[in-house]
Amino acid sequence: MQVYFVGAGPGNPELITVKGQRLLKEADVIIYAGSLVNPALLELAKPSAAIYNSASMTLEEVADTMKQAVQAGQIVVRLHTGDPSIYGAIQEQMDLLDQAEITYEVVPGVSSFLATAAALKQEYTLPDISQTVIITRLEGRTPVPEKEKLALLASHATTMCIFLSVHMLDDVVAELIAGGYTSDTPVAVVQKASWPDQRIFRGTLETIARIVAEGGVDRTAMIVVGKVLDCSYSLSRLYAPEFGHMFRDAK
Ligand code: SAH
Repeated sequence: MQVYFVGAGPGNPELITVKGQRLLKEADVIIYAGSLVNPALLELAKPSAAIYNSASMTLEEVADTMKQAVQAGQIVVRLHTGDPSIYGAIQEQMDLLDQAEITYEVVPGVSSFLATAAALKQEYTLPDISQTVIITRLEGRTPVPEKEKLALLASHATTMCIFLSVHMLDDVVAELIAGGYTSDTPVAVVQKASWPDQRIFRGTLETIARIVAEGGVDRTAMIVVGKVLDCSYSLSRLYAPEFGHMFRDAK
């Protein structure tokens, strides 16, 4: 195997997997997603490694760089922020490699929506409140299928993690309310979860846009909405005395 798509994790260099870290150390060629991958991870590269920032490359240039490296017998790491499967645009890269009959492996990473939960010290799935997490985004230049419009998804009133949309927070709020969330629904915005300059903003659908505007948030931020962010919920059945399961009998 010569090509690896590796999840870099959300920012903190310790949040890459052990396998991802090993591959970064071994790679002859590293192509990283420049806007979001923490450059500190690149310090793991061996001195001879060629390092490319994909922010200034086209898909074809990325694919050609990979192909040339493979032909030269080199190991390639394609480093994506968070987990590569979430808004990573890896499918098109994998398809080009398939066409070129180059095999590859995907190494998962800690997605930013999980680092956001950690920053908030928040469980997304609370009994009676929400047992579903929706990962989505507001439509921008990338179209979103009609049935996945934010207002429609909001009608379920589940926990939602909204990527790539903080710069359109007013529109996000309007859609969520149009979809049925009440204006007192709690919202958190986490900027650069797990980075040293991580910031957390909390409010409700009514207040969050003003709070975030006053805070001057940049684009690397996650919006979390849902009642789980309130503290009232039923205790988990998993640890309830009368609830037996495979590893513990009911009392
Ligand atoms: N594959 C990545 C997401 C890439 S899309 C992942 O799994 O996390 C880029 C979006 O991810 C950003 O607009 C932002 O919404 C979110 N994001 C990435 N890193 C983040 C971080 N450290 N904290 C909060 N949000 C982050």
